[in-house]
Amino acid sequence: MAVQPRKIDVYDYVHPPRCTSCGRIVEPGSTATRFPCPNCGEVEIWRCSRCRKQGATYTCPNCGFTGP
Ligand SMILES: [Zn+2]
Ligand SMILES: [Zn+2]
Repeated sequence: MAVQPRKIDVYDYVHPPRCTSCGRIVEPGSTATRFPCPNCGEVEIWRCSRCRKQGATYTCPNCGFTGP
């Protein structure tokens, strides 16, 4: 399933999302991808534009699935 980058529509200022790969806070207005874990589907994976560019891997905090 292809994941399209998109602007964040709803931004939670109280609990800002963090990039699952690098741990940085995803800034409002930045282009990040957000998608459910392809393995367990229970956790939302966030990837900032920087990590997408670098092709950094992510690890699902719920099931430990690692993906590109
Ligand atoms: Zn990142
Ligand atoms: Zn998972």
